[in-house]
Amino acid sequence: MERDSRVAFLHIGVMEKHQISRRNFVEKLLLATAAATVAGRGAVADESPKLDVQDPAAVALGYALHANEVDTRKYPTYVKGSNCENCLQLQGKPGNEYRPCSLFPGKLVSVSGWCSGWTAEM
Ligand code: SF4
Repeated sequence: MERDSRVAFLHIGVMEKHQISRRNFVEKLLLATAAATVAGRGAVADESPKLDVQDPAAVALGYALHANEVDTRKYPTYVKGSNCENCLQLQGKPGNEYRPCSLFPGKLVSVSGWCSGWTAEM
């Protein structure tokens, strides 16, 4: 739980640097808080369903199954080469094609995917 809280605060710091809108900031904060709560209960399992790109939370953060499908005009903060696999928010075991993400509790994301919550690993 302590690590999840640190991740949430680090994520908030990165978002502030990119000067995202207040609405997006609040949405991401709520998602990160929910994720930390769920992770703290150990409720995220690798058997969770895959995140649908049409899921409202996925749409809100511009989730794409493959990072090369990101609309860079809509998401100018996209960093070439960034994807879920090199994102700080990704959880679970390396080597799995779909893994939990702290921004989408209870769902698995494609390691080749991307969303606007991408945060560089440290
Ligand atoms: Fe989660 Fe990061 Fe992938 Fe976004 S880019 S879905 S925050 S792992």
